[in-house]
Amino acid sequence: MLDDLRDLYQEVVFDHNRNPRNFRKMEDADRTVEGHNPLCGDRITLYLKFDDGRIADVSFQGQGCAISTASASLMTEIVKGKTLEEAEHLFEAFHQIVTGRDDDLKLEELGKLAVLAGVRQYPSRIKCATLPWHSLEAALKGEEQPVSTE
Ligand code: ZN
Repeated sequence: MLDDLRDLYQEVVFDHNRNPRNFRKMEDADRTVEGHNPLCGDRITLYLKFDDGRIADVSFQGQGCAISTASASLMTEIVKGKTLEEAEHLFEAFHQIVTGRDDDLKLEELGKLAVLAGVRQYPSRIKCATLPWHSLEAALKGEEQPVSTE
C-alpha cells in the first residue's frame, strides 16, 4: 500500500507540475491572495471567483517547486464548483492527510487528494504542499494579508 501510494504520488506530482491545471491570471477575481513559503522559496498567487456561495472559478500563478505547483494544481481541480463549506472541509481533510492524523478519514473517498499523503515521506516538503491550501483558507475567510507558512 505504501509503495503504491509513493509511486502514485510521484506520478501525480510529476504530471501536475509539468502541466499545471488552472495556471492563469484571473483579471476579474473576487479575491486574490499571495502566499509565500520562505523555507523553500515557493510563491503563489491564488485567484477566486464566487457565485451564489460556490467557488465558481479558481486559478493560480506563481513560482515554486514541483510539490507546491502540483498541490496548487490539484487543489484548484478539487475545489472548483464546491460550496465554501465544502471547501473548508476539504482544507481540514487535507491538513489531516499531510500531517498523518487521518485515522478518521476514508482516504478512498478523498480521491486524488489522498495522493498527497505521499508527502509525509518528505517532511521538509510538507509546507510546500500546504502553501496553496493556506492561501485558499485565507481567501475563504476574506483575509487580505499575504500568507506565509512560517
Ligand atoms: Zn517548495
